[in-house]
Amino acid sequence: MQHAALLLAGGSGTRMGGLTGDKLLYEVGGRSVFAHSLRAFVESGIFRLLVIVYRDHRQKALLQAELAKVPDTVPVSFVVGGERRQDSVRAGLAAVPPSCERIWIHDCARPALRIETLQAIARTTSQHDGAFGLAHRVTDTIRSFPSAPVTQPARGNLLDRERLWAMETPQVFPRELLQRAHKALGEAVTDDLAAAEMLGEPVLLMENPFPNPKLTSPADLPLLSSLLQTETMNDFISFPAFRTGIGYDVHRLEAGRRLVLGGVEIPSEYGLVGHSDADVLSHAIADAILGAASLADIGHYFPDTDPAIEGISSLRILAKALAEVQAIGWAVVNIDATLIAERPRIAPWLASIRESLAETLEIEPEAVGIKATTNEGLGWIGRGEGMAAQAVASLTSAVKD
Ligand code: MG
Repeated sequence: MQHAALLLAGGSGTRMGGLTGDKLLYEVGGRSVFAHSLRAFVESGIFRLLVIVYRDHRQKALLQAELAKVPDTVPVSFVVGGERRQDSVRAGLAAVPPSCERIWIHDCARPALRIETLQAIARTTSQHDGAFGLAHRVTDTIRSFPSAPVTQPARGNLLDRERLWAMETPQVFPRELLQRAHKALGEAVTDDLAAAEMLGEPVLLMENPFPNPKLTSPADLPLLSSLLQTETMNDFISFPAFRTGIGYDVHRLEAGRRLVLGGVEIPSEYGLVGHSDADVLSHAIADAILGAASLADIGHYFPDTDPAIEGISSLRILAKALAEVQAIGWAVVNIDATLIAERPRIAPWLASIRESLAETLEIEPEAVGIKATTNEGLGWIGRGEGMAAQAVASLTSAVKD
């Protein structure tokens, strides 16, 4: 089955108080309102023909310039519209060859229409031989009044919200039904389902899960802007960046010093020597985190000549490394570290060390890997003169939930 779409661009925009010019040419989210609508129809892959129904020759030239910016893989016709909406639809319909059996009608002032919505409509209407409309449920409480009760109070009539649907476009029709409906139509209507209903035809609706508002006033522009920017951001959001960093540190051991590893004090005759608490494990991890973001090492942020940081907990160093990478848009995914030490046995303290590091780094303990190994008695580590630690860290640009 071949599909053609009438893209209605000729609306007068008289409600855009305060803003001048053609509302379809306003730039929102990097392109014009018209180009957003056009692009969705072109890129959907559904259409044999697009008929752009314009207002006058001046507008036609501007719309043609917009068309030139969209990769054109669908034949496009330009047709001048009429005074009323239905006159424009009739003019557009006359330009569609008989081989196109399904006619879609879209108001170009709805630029947030998504390609997946067009594809869902194509699937639904392939199984349906009547009038079809895209719609959403009404969530406001609605009253009707015989006249506007803004200066004089009037008795209102509360409508049952459960039965109310707000019509959007596109609306889709078998060609024969649309022709018959418009031929019979006398009075002005605001959509094409109304024309079919006047023939007594039932209509099928699809609830649009995505917002598809119509640009009718300047107040709609911020909403449309955020909707259209979200759409163009989709690729970026679904493919976050990842980085990996490596860290290494060494501290000497001396009798009578505190031994602090991963922020946990471990009973030992020997402790590590350093300007801070000499937590070799935390230092290696901090460098891995900073390195993953291509930042300077911890010596840059905590020079060992600074008396203010003498004896500080290295968890503060770790928290500073986290704050530095967070400030430029990174979050820690996981860390993995190995402590290389001849003694004491670290195994009983591993769970506490993981908890301490996880809390400081704002990740789950499951994302903290800590292992300890001896150096098999070899070299300065084997002789118990010092400890070394190695670490890797992964960062992501994705926003954590
Ligand atoms: Mg160090």
